[in-house]
Amino acid sequence: MTDFSEYKGIWVFCEQRGGELMPTDFELVSEARRLANEMDCKVTGVLLGEGVEETAGLLGGYGADEVMVCEDPLLKVYTTDAYTKVLCDLVDEYKPAVLLMGATNIGRDLGPRCAARLHTGLTADATHLDVDTREYMEFLRKSSTLDVDGMNLDMEDRNLKMTRPAFGGHMMATIICPRFRPQMSTVRPGVMKKAEFDQAKADACVILKPSFSITPDDIHVEVLSVEKAAKKMVDLIGANVVVSVGRGISKNVEEGIALAEKLADAMHGVVGASRAVVDAGWISSDHQVGQTGKTVHPKVYVALGISGAIQHVAGMQDSELIIAVNKNASAPIFGVADYGIVGDLFKVVPDLLKAIEAERAAR
Ligand code: FAD
Repeated sequence: MTDFSEYKGIWVFCEQRGGELMPTDFELVSEARRLANEMDCKVTGVLLGEGVEETAGLLGGYGADEVMVCEDPLLKVYTTDAYTKVLCDLVDEYKPAVLLMGATNIGRDLGPRCAARLHTGLTADATHLDVDTREYMEFLRKSSTLDVDGMNLDMEDRNLKMTRPAFGGHMMATIICPRFRPQMSTVRPGVMKKAEFDQAKADACVILKPSFSITPDDIHVEVLSVEKAAKKMVDLIGANVVVSVGRGISKNVEEGIALAEKLADAMHGVVGASRAVVDAGWISSDHQVGQTGKTVHPKVYVALGISGAIQHVAGMQDSELIIAVNKNASAPIFGVADYGIVGDLFKVVPDLLKAIEAERAAR
């Protein structure tokens, strides 16, 4: 049986590519800070790579008390073998109570491998985390139809409560890991809110250089080269405005996408899409918003010809302002929209563009 008293603190595996920290790192460190305040413990970032020490302090600005930096030429580019070995050795030695990582391609590869090696559980793709039972009850009150007060939850329970969509997004499941440590979760990019950067905290962040060992014999693959996709990926998560298209563009796909691009340009935003549009091959998958796409919370989200299926709504419902255009007045998307326009998007969008142009000219 694991002796839980030995396990302390929250670790965030911080991903870097080409020496650059990923936006998920800042989101996760911010969330870890919130949880650490509930658990009264430290937040430790873990950064593997080569020539990455300089950027480590940035993590302090979002809430890390310390960052463990492990530098080696064999860690410059991600490999499952090398990263699993170094991370698991560190966990075995320093024993964190919680280990979080982004549900990115790398996190989804590394997380399960580490969980198996450490003989602990892993919640994949979490969208909400809590330690304090009262906080968790507040979350349930806001986001579920459960009779929270009748649930007889254990107020003293200090396990990490990791919530994720289940059964195609029709249910939310909260998972705990009561018998093993560390409690591990991958967390969906874009879900956790990034804290305001604090330079004083960044300056105070302690950089640790733990000893570790990695040799070529530990690695069973050789990375010959890293090829960047030639095409620029759309930055849905960082955008202030997202104009998304759905199957409603089907009568003229080219024109529908062109209209969305024009509207996105006029509003200084980017184009998103429902999965129906991605599955039909009309737009690339990096545009997909929703449960199996990206979670966005822009200032303005425009849904053009999107019905508002629960799996789509899961990825955009926290947008500050939602505008929906749909020719069906009873489409579910109007249930989450702040402004709804019932009409044919091929007529409505040109009118919106004219209105924006007229407004700009008048100013
Ligand atoms: P539809 O549901 O077909 O809706 C099209 C809408 O366009 C209709 O409401 C119609 O009234 C309207 N319309 C038609 N013509 C016009 C017009 N000319 N002008 C205006 N309106 C018009 N979906 C996602 O989006 N993201 C996900 O990440 C995702 N993940 C999923 C994961 C799982 C496990 C499963 C099972 C499903 C997932 N889905 C996801 C699919 C989701 O259930 C829906 O099938 C999908 O979102 C529907 O896309 P849509 O709204 O574009 O199409």
